[in-house]
Amino acid sequence: MGRIQPRDSVALMEGYHSPQVEVDVRLNTNESPVSPPPGFVEALAAEVARVDWHRYPDRGAWELRSRIGALHGVGPEQVFAANGSNEVLQTLSLTYGGPGRNVAVFEPTYALHSHIARITGTGVAEGERAADFSLDLDVVRSVVAASQPAITYLCSPNNPTGMVETRQTVEEVLGLVPGLLVVDEAYGQFAPWSALELVDEETPLVVSRTFSKTWSMAAARLGYLIGPSWVVAELEKVVLPYHLDSMKQAAGTIALDYLAEMEERVAQLTEERGRLEAALRELPCDVWPSGANFVLFRPRTVDGAEVWKKLVDRSVLVRNCSSWPRLEGCLRVTIGTSHEDDRFLDALREILT
Ligand code: PMP
Repeated sequence: MGRIQPRDSVALMEGYHSPQVEVDVRLNTNESPVSPPPGFVEALAAEVARVDWHRYPDRGAWELRSRIGALHGVGPEQVFAANGSNEVLQTLSLTYGGPGRNVAVFEPTYALHSHIARITGTGVAEGERAADFSLDLDVVRSVVAASQPAITYLCSPNNPTGMVETRQTVEEVLGLVPGLLVVDEAYGQFAPWSALELVDEETPLVVSRTFSKTWSMAAARLGYLIGPSWVVAELEKVVLPYHLDSMKQAAGTIALDYLAEMEERVAQLTEERGRLEAALRELPCDVWPSGANFVLFRPRTVDGAEVWKKLVDRSVLVRNCSSWPRLEGCLRVTIGTSHEDDRFLDALREILT
């Protein structure tokens, strides 16, 4: 008897992976280069000792959502929290997507927007960005008109380009879309402005964020969105009961006591990004302007895939985007500590000059 196969759209799919090679300097997954403050780890350990392990967690995660809401000047009813912002995106697709519906994405962008849509049986309408990877509003207009998307995704700063959409662009896109506009701000804290400014009860806009990057908490898998309460209420119906365990709720709540430390790290990384970008521009590389904690670049004299291998030989791992559609020859480097970035820059100089 043959094995049962997944439905066609899933069987044909490739997963989304970044190889985790053993190296000294890991600059491939846009994590924070430093661990959370020691006080956070101690406070969390103490809180975990108080968890009622025989009980289910607070299903509504009210304390966590209230604290996140307070950070952004909204109530808990405007906060949806989940296991990483990927689960936020998945819940959006499960709720507003599905067979017979479409999402719109503008490539190149974060691969999971279309991947998750397809997994949930949602159609994907793809628009092309301009040659410099900026958003072309004429393309947005025609893709939206043709596909009438239930969800339109923008990613700002965009992954993998690092580029930030302006407020004017987001407002114009909002005026064009028939459904929900999702602005994925996984790297929002590194950018000069946030679409959170535009969220209110009337506007069909949600902004997603994560604890994985600036909060040094990729291991905790916690993300959220801020949006109108009527969207949050629908998402709450779809997500599994008790999806946020007690440890994670505690981790997120306690992390918010360390806002000043987090902001300090963001400031340091942003400064370090300036240094890294400037150094890359002195090498034979095309460099895209970044508002995130990573930089996309394309070596001009040596093939990107070759550069990637030679960096690994020197124990430096960056993201190899060189075979991705539209990103031929490109690599993406996460901002690390200045020591790690120096190791990367020294290796790259050696390879390219
Ligand atoms: N959105 C974007 C644009 C990302 O780059 C990432 C992480 N790669 C995520 C969402 C997901 O982050 P997490 O699930 O860790 O919150």
